[in-house]
Amino acid sequence: MMRVSAIPAVLRFEIEAECPETGARAGLLHTPHGVVETPVFMPVGTQATLKAVRPTEIIEELDAKILLSNTYHLFLRPGHETIRELGGLHKFMSWPRAILTDSGGFQVFSLSNLRQVTDDGVLFRSHLDGDPHKFTAASTVDVQLALGSDIMMVLDECLPYPASHEAAKESLHRTIRWAAEAFNHYRKRREGENAPSALFPIVQGGMYADLRKDCANQLCELDAEGYAIGGLSVGEPRPLSLDMTAITTPLLPREKPRYVMGVGMPDELPEYVARGVDMMDCVLPSRNARNGNLFTSRGKLVIKHARMKNDPAPIDEDCGCSTCRQYSRGYLRHLFNAGEMLYSTLATIHNVSRYLDIMRGIRQAILLGKFPEYLRAVRSLPVEDS
Ligand SMILES: [Zn+2]
Repeated sequence: MMRVSAIPAVLRFEIEAECPETGARAGLLHTPHGVVETPVFMPVGTQATLKAVRPTEIIEELDAKILLSNTYHLFLRPGHETIRELGGLHKFMSWPRAILTDSGGFQVFSLSNLRQVTDDGVLFRSHLDGDPHKFTAASTVDVQLALGSDIMMVLDECLPYPASHEAAKESLHRTIRWAAEAFNHYRKRREGENAPSALFPIVQGGMYADLRKDCANQLCELDAEGYAIGGLSVGEPRPLSLDMTAITTPLLPREKPRYVMGVGMPDELPEYVARGVDMMDCVLPSRNARNGNLFTSRGKLVIKHARMKNDPAPIDEDCGCSTCRQYSRGYLRHLFNAGEMLYSTLATIHNVSRYLDIMRGIRQAILLGKFPEYLRAVRSLPVEDS
């Protein structure tokens, strides 16, 4: 049965080029806060900030078009009603471009204590003060609408790895039911008010191909504006995450953006794109930067190593970021060892810049019809570890 939605679409996704060999796509995702070139890597601003970097630098130096923020954290502190009163998340953090928020499900399952899954949601205690809270499919939509995200996620249950087929199946049915409840609530709210936020359901199913397929097929009936693949990067071997992605993407509508949540290492970015993925996010570049691990075109560089002490070279000779244009490894090592705040800023700018450069290279290769050659070239490089 064709579902005719009464509410206008929030997003418009244009596919500009598609690799006939791999299915990789280059496109433009039009959001209420600007156009996002895809495939895209979204830097993570967990607490309504990309740690250590000002929004003006994210725009002028990194040119990121979209950031991710975490509903769980903002719900607990400062609270979504506070952010609504202060004009919504874009105004609150002075970020004029697009924002995607997760539903908080992943953090409830990974951070909070004493969580209890019920039929209509999840009860949990805050990791900050132990206060009890409940998330339901509808309430997480309300929280994200208060934030004013361009793209919101439905509440899903995120299983640890490994999980039995039985446990994964039971969890999957709950996730599918929550997705339907979230969409019912979302459509009601959008019919009644001007709320330009899109909602994506999340394909779960653990590491089981049959469950992933079942979930994807059922979620497609929601006729969403885009689809996410979740429950990956939870401790499983990396090739398995790619396999689960590869069996899921062909089942999702070709004309809608596909988002794999929480991936990946620099060498994995083209691999996800090769499996038909348009959007990704991960804390890896920013968290690694702060920990002293810098990604370069020649592999990982550990800034605290003694051999950096008198090194006048930039982090990466081939990187055009403002950190590499102005500062030496020796200076960055000094800042890191001295615990100076500037270190985090400079390192984050470089690492995120490296990720965004990789994505620009991938996108260019797809647009030029040269993605298979690009993929062969990057696959011949040594693999980096996290
Ligand atoms: Zn750099």
